[in-house]
Amino acid sequence: MRWKGRRVSTNLEDRRGGGGAKAGGISILGLIVAFVAWKFFGVDPQQAYQATKQVTAGEQVESVGLENPTPQQQEAADFVGTVLADTEDTWQAIFQEQGQNYTPPKLVLFSGVVNSRCGTAQAAMGPFYCPADQKVYIDTSFFKDMRQQMGISGEQNQTELSRQDQAGDFAQAYVIAHEVGHHVQNLLGISSQVQQARSRASQVQGNQLSVRQELQADCLAGVWAHHNQQRTQFLEQGDVQEAMDAAHKIGDDYLQKSATGQVVPDSFTHGTSAQRMQWFQTGLKSGDLNQCDTFNQPV
Ligand SMILES: [Zn+2]
Repeated sequence: MRWKGRRVSTNLEDRRGGGGAKAGGISILGLIVAFVAWKFFGVDPQQAYQATKQVTAGEQVESVGLENPTPQQQEAADFVGTVLADTEDTWQAIFQEQGQNYTPPKLVLFSGVVNSRCGTAQAAMGPFYCPADQKVYIDTSFFKDMRQQMGISGEQNQTELSRQDQAGDFAQAYVIAHEVGHHVQNLLGISSQVQQARSRASQVQGNQLSVRQELQADCLAGVWAHHNQQRTQFLEQGDVQEAMDAAHKIGDDYLQKSATGQVVPDSFTHGTSAQRMQWFQTGLKSGDLNQCDTFNQPV
């Protein structure tokens, strides 16, 4: 995948290296709120303080960039930032064609644990999109694990190409595009419709709705790839196969490995790998949003 030399998004929040941990310290505001809660509402001050810590952690001002990134860390951020910019430019153009304006999401890079408005997430849970704060959360170790699962050692093509170039870069772009697809669903009002329908549905029906929502995000990732290809010619031989492999290999087993946080991960309700590949291809070939109506046709 060709990605160097294009615009890097400014909507990237780099919280790697424990940027989120700062909120774990003593906060005067938290202590005051805890005291008030205890004094006037009879809330156990320790509990109240814990609660305020969580809230302030979710609201904290984001750090921008690592202080001393290694070349690899810088490259990883540049890559993610470039793909994010690609999604911004491409979706802006698609929305404009429909007479609409595209509001891009923020993308938070993190390591370890991260606080979102959807709750606290562990890196091991995999990437997710939080509709409440309109942010995509990606831990960089996920990409490393994904490369390992895909059997990409980085030994092949040992040239001047960067590590990112060797290592399933389009598969990573596909993961980012899938999460941005959830943001597009949010902007189009699809996410809230699904949420409403799920609240009235049985567990089984609810899971089926989730599968359709996930497959639509795959289709939207394909629509993005189609238009991004026209705009930038970024695809190289083997890239699409690479994404298909990723769709096949990153799934339930990875995401279920240690789902212990409060965030509901992008999990086993993704559909089968065959379904995922089919819908990504549908989006990629057509480049047409209307072909991505996974809710009103058999998946
Ligand atoms: Zn998803």
